[in-house]
Amino acid sequence: MAKPRIVAIDDEAEFINMLQDYFEPRGYDIDVSLRGARGIEIIKEKAPDVVLCDLKMPGIDGDEVLKLLKNMQPSPKLIFVTAYDDGGKTKARLLKLGAYAYFDKPITSLKELEDTINRASGN
Ligand SMILES: [Mg+2]
Repeated sequence: MAKPRIVAIDDEAEFINMLQDYFEPRGYDIDVSLRGARGIEIIKEKAPDVVLCDLKMPGIDGDEVLKLLKNMQPSPKLIFVTAYDDGGKTKARLLKLGAYAYFDKPITSLKELEDTINRASGN
């Protein structure tokens, strides 16, 4: 099965670069954006299997990305990766709203994220 197509949106360039450095050599097709609005454009263009998304970003934030994705056909799975922590309240809310998974930053295991991406895309 082909590797999942990924779009990653995060306003932190270092984090985006780290994702690219991990996933590209492993054969994933990964596009990245520092801004939600551009990220949504890329998602419409590429129809990825999985979207990795930060929560707090200037402009279109993670909540809005989730809303937009839910109305897309096909709808990519959304995995949040965020340093935002309010004791799990936001995590529970976003999972209830349809997010596939929620990872805390800093990511302790990119392999775990990779496994979750593969599960999300049915691989
Ligand atoms: Mg951020």
